[in-house]
Amino acid sequence: MKHLLSIAGSDCSGGAGIQADLKAFSANGVYGMTVITAITAQNTRGVRAVRAMDPDIVAAQIDAVFSDIRVDGVKIGMLAEGPIIEAVAAALRRWKPPITVLDPVMVAKSGHRLLTEEAERLLIEKLLPLADLITPNIPEALKLAYAGQETAQTGGAERNENLSEQERERLALEILKRGAKAVLIKGGHSADPDRSVDLLADGKGFRRFEARRLDARHTHGTGCSLSSALAAFLARGFSLEAAVERAKAYVTEGIAHGLAIGGGCGPIHHFY
Ligand code: PLP
Repeated sequence: MKHLLSIAGSDCSGGAGIQADLKAFSANGVYGMTVITAITAQNTRGVRAVRAMDPDIVAAQIDAVFSDIRVDGVKIGMLAEGPIIEAVAAALRRWKPPITVLDPVMVAKSGHRLLTEEAERLLIEKLLPLADLITPNIPEALKLAYAGQETAQTGGAERNENLSEQERERLALEILKRGAKAVLIKGGHSADPDRSVDLLADGKGFRRFEARRLDARHTHGTGCSLSSALAAFLARGFSLEAAVERAKAYVTEGIAHGLAIGGGCGPIHHFY
């Protein structure tokens, strides 16, 4: 049995964050552990409040796990604030996990910020170089690629959804230049009505993964679940391409079986 650690925020409604990560770990055959970086008060309608943990207790949780239990892979999600990013980066440099998947969580679908704007630069400087795989959506990829350069290349927010294939490849290469070993740019935010195409780049080439676009409302926690499933498959020894294929298929089915709980955007189903 492989042992996976999620370093992420808590979602009390159970749809996203560490709760989604644990479900995705269990569903995909690995033992899950958690380091909580922040507590969110949220439900299917949105995020009401966020309380970041002290960086000391984040580091203490990481040290407690690594000093006792073999960790076969780490998934990083919501980090909330700069000092937590620094604590997590320092701990990962100390413990050197064999696989690190970074989901660069910045803003929830409901629009609530899950990482301060100032901390975006720290995420790029300190964590991106430690990532074996980073899984941005298109708006996050634009920030990761062009932070500090702004507008000239991005051409304004309205272009976020309409990037050509070459523009996405350029984005991926910029992100690799900043130190990640591989990047999966998720196509869920694109304007294509029929397909959702993810682009994988690992410095050796590009590969596209296509899935039918589902007309789904209950998609809360898709990003968290995808990155956790990816970490699980990588830790279990699947190649990068096979892990992406399997994780994407898993999340696509989860969306197809989305749960209509609550009055808003419900979670995907992890055990369909
Ligand atoms: N809440 C937490 C704690 C998260 O980690 C995330 C995403 O990573 C979200 C909410 C956002 O979920 P979504 O954008 O799928 O609604």
